[in-house]
Amino acid sequence: MTFHDFNFNEHLTEGILSMGYQTPTPIQEMAIPLILEGKDLIACAQTGTGKTASYLLPVLHKIALADEGHKTTALVLAPTRELAQQIDQQAEGLAYFTGLSSIAIYGGGDGIVYEQQRRGIQNKVDILIGTPGRLIAHLQSGVLKLDHIKYLILDEADRMLDMGFLGDIMRIIGDVPQHRQTLLFSATMPGPIRKLASSILKNPEQINLATSQPAEGISQQIYKLHNDQKSRLVVKLLKEGSYASTIIFANTKDEVKRLTRELKGSGIKANAFHSDFEQAEREQILLDFKNRALPVIIGTDALSRGIDVEGIDLVINYDVPADPEDYIHRIGRTARAETTGTAITLVNERDNRKLKNIEELIGRPIVQNPVPSELGEAPVFKEHKHHKRRRDNNRSKFRKKKHGNSGGSHHAGPKSH
Ligand code: AMP
Repeated sequence: MTFHDFNFNEHLTEGILSMGYQTPTPIQEMAIPLILEGKDLIACAQTGTGKTASYLLPVLHKIALADEGHKTTALVLAPTRELAQQIDQQAEGLAYFTGLSSIAIYGGGDGIVYEQQRRGIQNKVDILIGTPGRLIAHLQSGVLKLDHIKYLILDEADRMLDMGFLGDIMRIIGDVPQHRQTLLFSATMPGPIRKLASSILKNPEQINLATSQPAEGISQQIYKLHNDQKSRLVVKLLKEGSYASTIIFANTKDEVKRLTRELKGSGIKANAFHSDFEQAEREQILLDFKNRALPVIIGTDALSRGIDVEGIDLVINYDVPADPEDYIHRIGRTARAETTGTAITLVNERDNRKLKNIEELIGRPIVQNPVPSELGEAPVFKEHKHHKRRRDNNRSKFRKKKHGNSGGSHHAGPKSH
C-alpha cells in the first residue's frame, strides 16, 4: 500500500513527501480508510507507530475538502505540553502546502504565553491541539468556542486519565457538538478507558496494534542481582560502556530521584525527568538529552510514552516493569528505525516472576550476564514454575485485533524515520 491509495488532496500529498514518509505504517493503513469513511474509532497504538499522522492526515484531507473558511473544526486533546507540541509540529509539516493551520495550547508558561495562545485561538486556526487544563481556562474566559468542532481526537487517552484529566475532558466534550466524529487513541485499554470510550464514541470501529515484539536490532540482556548491587552496576555500565545516550527507567518517582542522586554522586552526568519539574525545566532536560549535552536521563514509564528521540543506544530497566507490554515499550526507545541498541534489565528476586512474564510474551529467554565479581556475590533465585501470564481478561479480549494483520510477530513501528 502507498499513500497514493488514499487519494489525498494533492497539497497534502506534497506535505507527506516533504516529511519524508514513503509508505504508510500499519496503524496508518488501518486507521486512515476508516476515518475517511467518517467512522468513530478506538485505536490501541503507542508512540512510535505513526499514530499521530494516522489521524492528522485523514482529518486534514477532510477539512481541506470541506473548505469552510478556517473555522476550528478539529480538536485534539493530549496529556502533556510535550505531546501537544509534537502533534502540532507534525500537523504543521503535513499541512504546510494546504494552507490549513494548527495551534498548540498548553499549560505552564507565563502571562505572555497565555496571551499568545489567546490571540492564536482568535486567529481562526483549523486544528486546535491542547492539554485539558489549559483548554478549560480558555473556555472559561470565553475566548475559546467549540461550536464548530466536527472532529474530536483524544490522544494518549490512558495517560490523560492517569493524570486525572477525566473531569476536564468531560467538561470540554460537553461544549463540543454531539454531531461529530470522535477518535480515541490509547497505548493501553484498561477498564476506565473502555468506559470513557463507550460514553463518547458512537458505534466505533476498533483497531488494535499489538506491539508484542521488540525490534530486531535490540540486544536484550539481564542481570540477576541483589537490590543493593543495582546502582553500583549501573555506574559500572555507564562508566565502562561507550554509550552516548542512555535512558534509565525505574518504576517509581522516588526511585528515579534516589538513583539520580546516586549517579550524580558517582560523577555521572544524569538528570531525572518527572512531573515535579516545571514544564520549562522538563523541556530543557529533554532538549539537552536530544542534543547529546545530557548523556543519561532517568524517568518512569511516563517518559517511555512521550519521548521521541533518535539514536538512544542503551536502555536500562532499573526495575522490571509490571506489565510486559511496558517492557516492550521501554526498550523500544532504542534501536528505532532499524538501528541497533542495547536493553539491560536488572532483576532482583522479587521481580523474577515479572521477568518470566516478559520472556513468555517475547517467546524466548533473555540472555543473562554474570554479575561482575567486584559487586559481590550474585544471588541464586528460587525458580518459579512456568505459569500463565496473568492479565486482565477484558483487556486481552479487547486486544484481539479486528482489522488487518496488526498483531503477532512483526514490529509495528514506522520503518524509517
Ligand atoms: P508517532 O507514533 O505518531 O509519535 O510517530 C512517530 C514518528 O514517526 C514521528 O517522528 C513521525 O513523524 C514518524 N512517522 C509517522 N508516519 C510515518 C511514515 N509513514 N513513515 C515514516 N515516518 C513516519
